Amino acid sequence: NGSYPNESETGQTLVIGSSGFIGRFITEACLDAGRPTYILVRSSSNSPSKASTIKFLQDKGAIVIYGSITDQEFMEKVLREYKIEVVISAVGGGSILDQFSLIEAIKNVKTVKRFVPSEFGHDIDRAEPVEPGLTMYGQKSKIRRRIEECGIPYSYICCNSIAAWPYHDNTHPADVLPPLDRFQIYGDGTVKAYFVAGSDIGKFTVMSIDDDRTLNKTVHFQPPSNLLNMNEMASLWETKIGRVLPRVNITEQDLLQQAQEMRIPQSVVAAITHDIFINGCQINFSLDKTTDVEVCSLYPNTSFRTIAECFDDFAKKISDNEKAVSKPVTASNTEIFVPTAKPEAL
Ligand code: NDP
Repeated sequence: NGSYPNESETGQTLVIGSSGFIGRFITEACLDAGRPTYILVRSSSNSPSKASTIKFLQDKGAIVIYGSITDQEFMEKVLREYKIEVVISAVGGGSILDQFSLIEAIKNVKTVKRFVPSEFGHDIDRAEPVEPGLTMYGQKSKIRRRIEECGIPYSYICCNSIAAWPYHDNTHPADVLPPLDRFQIYGDGTVKAYFVAGSDIGKFTVMSIDDDRTLNKTVHFQPPSNLLNMNEMASLWETKIGRVLPRVNITEQDLLQQAQEMRIPQSVVAAITHDIFINGCQINFSLDKTTDVEVCSLYPNTSFRTIAECFDDFAKKISDNEKAVSKPVTASNTEIFVPTAKPEAL
């Protein structure tokens, strides 16, 4: 509606979904950048691991506000009272449509200079995964269109894959070690994808929200150093663990079947895995729209963590755990993770 300012500057930032996987990276990056950071936490969110994430972020300086984005009146009050200038939403795949009431609140208060809706994956206006991935993309697309209709200043973050082994049945692969028994390779393992460290998803998202060049743009993360195929990922991991593992091929048909037969959210991950490693959805288009920008071109002097560095972190976790289990059992180390031949959630 033309009444929004065109420039953003470092200001009060509200992060939604901080206790979640992507939201935690975003919140940490906001705090590391010295931004005044508010986090919206649902009072129903009471799992011990989420509580410890919130405590960790509070100790780093985040200010907690209790509530839900589905309460539009409350959200308007929050945006006004705390003079919020930037809103970053990282609600999960099951809550994408909850953002409609948040958008109405942002539209009504008119003071938000940048809104980043929950995306953090592929360009949903280009990619077409099979169902049920397509339905989730359709929801993200509805959110985009409403933001644009309301004239809210936005950036869409397309950060591609998280730097970890791309398990086709796990929504948060960075929480899981790469394989220790065998690799499951999708298709012939030659289709490349961009694997970006969670900390870099946070860092570059936060850098982009103060940048006029990313205003009303789709921000693509395409660091050339992080473009690998599955065969290369497997070989790299073998160098880190010092042994060679068998490779099992998962065919296109297998992935399609998993997308059809598994339940949400795993079925969504299988559909998106198919789109990445069979269709090549991260690499089969050019950045030729006037709304496309790419982070490496925007910030050529800031480097990305490489997959090798991320794999070093996983290898260190294994060796730390091995050291811990080889210690005599004492009261203080009885609950430490024991590595097995199968990948386990850390
Ligand atoms: P999670 O499920 O891990 O976390 C979702 C967060 O949103 C939780 O903190 C949850 O709070 C909060 N939330 C949900 N609904 C509301 C609400 N109505 N009001 C306030 N808070 C709410 O999400 P993910 O990190 O998995 O997903 C975030 C985005 O990132 C999604 O768009 C997803 O598609 C994408 N993604 C991308 C990945 C990649 O590899 N590129 C990997 C994973 C996700 P509560 O604790 O109360 O439930």
